[in-house]
Amino acid sequence: MDTSASASGPAPSRRPRSVAVIGGGISGLAAAWYAKQALPDATVTVFEGSPRLGGKLAVAEVGGVRVDLGAESILNRRPEAVDLARAVGLADDIVHPATASASIWNRGELVPMPRGHLMGVPGDPRVLAGLLSAAGLKRAEAGPTLPPRSLLRVEAETDDVAVGGFVAERFGREVVDRLVEPLLGGVYAGHADEISLRAAIPALVPAYESGEPLDEAVSKILAAQAGAADPKPVFAGIRGGVGRFPAALTESCESAGVTVHRETMVRELSRTAGGWRLVCGPVPAARAHEFDAVIVAVPGAPAARLLKDAAPAAATELAGIAYASVALATFVFDDAALPAGSGFLVPPADGRFIKASTFSSVKWSWLAASGKTVVRASVGRHRETADLQREDTELAALALADLRTALGPDALGDPVDRYVQRWGGGLPQYAVGHVARVERIRSAVAAQPGLAVCGAAYDGVGIAACVASALRAAGEISTGAIGTGAIGTGAIGTGAHTNPEHP
Ligand SMILES: Cc1cc2nc3c(=O)[nH]c(=O)nc-3n(C[C@H](O)[C@H](O)[C@H](O)COP(=O)(O)OP(=O)(O)OC[C@H]3O[C@@H](n4cnc5c(N)ncnc54)[C@H](O)[C@@H]3O)c2cc1C
Repeated sequence: MDTSASASGPAPSRRPRSVAVIGGGISGLAAAWYAKQALPDATVTVFEGSPRLGGKLAVAEVGGVRVDLGAESILNRRPEAVDLARAVGLADDIVHPATASASIWNRGELVPMPRGHLMGVPGDPRVLAGLLSAAGLKRAEAGPTLPPRSLLRVEAETDDVAVGGFVAERFGREVVDRLVEPLLGGVYAGHADEISLRAAIPALVPAYESGEPLDEAVSKILAAQAGAADPKPVFAGIRGGVGRFPAALTESCESAGVTVHRETMVRELSRTAGGWRLVCGPVPAARAHEFDAVIVAVPGAPAARLLKDAAPAAATELAGIAYASVALATFVFDDAALPAGSGFLVPPADGRFIKASTFSSVKWSWLAASGKTVVRASVGRHRETADLQREDTELAALALADLRTALGPDALGDPVDRYVQRWGGGLPQYAVGHVARVERIRSAVAAQPGLAVCGAAYDGVGIAACVASALRAAGEISTGAIGTGAIGTGAIGTGAHTNPEHP
């Protein structure tokens, strides 16, 4: 690590000889890995504020079984994250869900998740027959005949619109309430009437812009996916938990010569004559370090604090990104009678305590091999924090009561163990105008040579999008050294606005 506080470092436009990565979540670790690949002669140093690396990826033992406490699947339809997992030694442990079917706990009944939709937007509204009321279905079927953009509150400056209003205008409110809302809730823990169409479902933007009937647009997209030469499973997991990914990545980084500091909070970031100065650690023992380049891989609020002097316009925009807090209650049973499928989503309109449940030991065969039944339930949505203020015991009891109501009184006995994991500020909200906001952040950051940002706040909350943003950030500070065959996992800057899907 550079500790000399010289103000005459190398010119920022040169290939950096020292790189700092702030944040040791999956984005920061991936950025460090890519930076080291692109700049093998440079020193690369990761600073993680907490004692644990991995951020929202974590595994722990519950009831004698190792389970994911945060993210548990990776989008497999884009290459970055699965390729990186392979590159860091997890190739033999990449698995796919044992079942692709799921349910919706709809008006007190578990109904199969309809097929033939894109984030809840149907190609043919008739697929929603088991989910909607007769009136709701009739409205959905009539929808595409309405004129485009007639009732929408479009944000003029960014020509963006909330997913909820856009879909409701065409197919009726019930489609949003019963399908779009729970699906979007699963990704962002947010509200369909606030989440940006451009950011959350970019595949539908051409239809939004052209006024093409949505059902036709969705049908074409689904047909193209189905007709792909090598249709891949949509999701991948890692045997032993996606939470193993950061440890494998850290090990590979360290073997390649990256230095990784835990419990080292970066408190300040400022420009020097030739590079960047970081102040790290607790106030009484804060230390300054100098680097040629810096990648900021932390969520919106800490990124805003770090960038307030170096890139004030970016800091203001980052401070405007809201975050939702969520909790996951994991239950381990000796045995249980679960229905088929990987779990269920819950429409918020039904006023339940839980928002979704994953039958983890049905979904992942490596968990089934433990002989236990593992079920997890998620709680909390953006701004709806009252339920999260309950004690762990009460939160778990309410979640279990909902599970018993959904699955029937005899499905679940008493769990052998339970665990409540809280993710305060866990998920960024991609509000209307998010894509334009990110463009403004990136242009303010790009004006500062040797500075880049990556993470869940930008182009997608899913792990795959985070890894892609890390690849892009490493490319930006390496002044083109990356993406020319040095790494071989794909081009920098492609797929900037990807659909952050996870169940
Ligand atoms: C409950 C939950 C379930 C999810 N499930 C899935 C899923 O199944 N599939 C999927 O693809 N995605 C899922 N996601 C989303 C995904 O896990 C996250 O978006 C992603 O892991 C974020 O990674 P990150 O590195 O950008 O940020 P983080 O994981 O937040 O990491 C940022 C790191 O920076 C550190 N830090 C912050 N400030 C500083 C500072 N000043 N100095 C040093 N370090 C600092 C933090 O301690 C943290 O370790 C889920 C998210 C949640 C909350």
